[in-house]
Amino acid sequence: MDGADRREFLEFDRVQKSYDQENLVVRNFDLSVAEGEFVTLLGPSGSGKSTVLMMLAGFESLTSGDIRIQGQSIARMAPYRRDIGMVFQNYALFPHMTIAENLAYPLKLRKMSGAALKAKVQEYLDLVELGGFGNRRPAQLSGGQRQRVALARALIFEPRLVLMDEPLGALDKKLREQMQFEITRLHKQLGFTVIYVTHDQTEALTMSNRIAVFNAGVVQQCDAPDVLYESPKNGFVADFIGENNFLPGELVGLDGGSAMVRISSGETLRCRRADAERVGMRCNVSVRPEKLFFDSPAQSCENRFHARFTTQLYVGDFIRYFVELPDGTPVVIKLLNDSAAPSFTEGEEVTLIAAPQDCSAFEPTDPIPEE
Ligand code: ADP
Ligand code: MG
Repeated sequence: MDGADRREFLEFDRVQKSYDQENLVVRNFDLSVAEGEFVTLLGPSGSGKSTVLMMLAGFESLTSGDIRIQGQSIARMAPYRRDIGMVFQNYALFPHMTIAENLAYPLKLRKMSGAALKAKVQEYLDLVELGGFGNRRPAQLSGGQRQRVALARALIFEPRLVLMDEPLGALDKKLREQMQFEITRLHKQLGFTVIYVTHDQTEALTMSNRIAVFNAGVVQQCDAPDVLYESPKNGFVADFIGENNFLPGELVGLDGGSAMVRISSGETLRCRRADAERVGMRCNVSVRPEKLFFDSPAQSCENRFHARFTTQLYVGDFIRYFVELPDGTPVVIKLLNDSAAPSFTEGEEVTLIAAPQDCSAFEPTDPIPEE
């Protein structure tokens, strides 16, 4: 996806939602989506993701703001007139109808019949690789097959916009990965625009063109997966996307694009400047386990600090090393399991290095509750 000029197919303009006239569960939500883009709303449970989808689908009203499709407000348009396809986790198929009848339903609503309808149903059964299953009933299919039918039913009337709210949440890991691949394939093949909701960051990273990270009704950052991973704007995003170490310290100086942070080992680390801005404030240095290395004479690096080795964990292709800072903060280092992987004894002092561009200085944030 390129230029902002193409992002005008779907627009959320300062959208807000309160269910009780008091608390906003969605605040100042702005988002422009290009036609054909796959945008994911990612965030912990209760952060307002489904509420945004419900407003877009027309099942919830907006408290303020506007939603436009191709420049036209849909905020007061009846849901069925919006022509939006939808897949939800528990979006039940009609149990008394066959799979083919389930797929025919949205077409009949749109006055299609006869041979054209039959051909379209077969085309979409084939598309989700259920060509021979038209005469079965939903109860005679597996969970993954049923979800493929739900997907086909959402796509069969060729909506330009498709909403998916945790559509794979009920499936086990292997099926979920297969379906992620299926959805991505259909999106590429058919070119519809997707707004996808999940609390699973791996799912978001692998499927999306862009991800909007929600916390408590507020978008923290909206960027492409690699930008979110490499340059998170704040501690919440750094913590939510992937794995991160947080080394508590104090901001002792600002130097152009760098923030200088002194951590409990007494060393000062040069960091990418993020949202920690006041000299003297407490802040965290965030650095990913795969961006930390043990010091070796061959490498030179401005950022080095001391810690004590505690233990290591063999995970096949990787080894996870656990060390501790003087203030007790645990730090994880993830190294490829090759002949160069070092070993240590418990309590041994080690020196760690990390490139300044892989360290970020963040204001401390509350820990994210477990799902
Ligand atoms: P998410 O999809 O991110 O888990 P939701 O949009 O479902 O979050 O919910 C956001 C907040 O709004 C939560 O605090 C939730 O309890 C509340 N909420 C959701 N739906 C309703 C509703 N129909 N009535 C009142 N409160 C609601
Ligand atoms: Mg939800």
